[in-house]
Amino acid sequence: TIGMLAMDASGEIAGVCTTSGLGYKMKGRVGDSPIIGSGLFVDNEVGAAVATGMGEEVLKTVGSFLVVELMRNGMSPQKACEEAIHRIVKRGDRYKDFQVAYIAMNKNGETGNYAIHPGFTMMKYQDGKSENIISDYYNK
Ligand code: ASP
Repeated sequence: TIGMLAMDASGEIAGVCTTSGLGYKMKGRVGDSPIIGSGLFVDNEVGAAVATGMGEEVLKTVGSFLVVELMRNGMSPQKACEEAIHRIVKRGDRYKDFQVAYIAMNKNGETGNYAIHPGFTMMKYQDGKSENIISDYYNK
């Protein structure tokens, strides 16, 4: 999945994701990416989040909605991404065999990103400066 979150000069937030889905998927499978609240959620009052990785796990935890709701309740984008990953990890040991990662941005333009495993990277462009951020991850 390629996910993108953006804020314009007046503070309006938008988000988008595109996916080819998982490799070798079952015919008819619908992943998380086209389901609003799972693969992507944008609330212009709070912020936005987008997911990549094992869509079934993101769907079961309504992950992007969860990240935005945690931010609504005062969590930073970074902590909200970490909590959403922990919700998946808590479901059992199967997380060892798949990746999920989130990026998030709040209404103040603060961002966060977190993954289960290494290898997830977020590109951030803000105030004319571009940064390649290698995500921290759970499974150290
Ligand atoms: N989240 C996608 C899916 O489960 C996979 C991906 O990250 O591209 O379909």
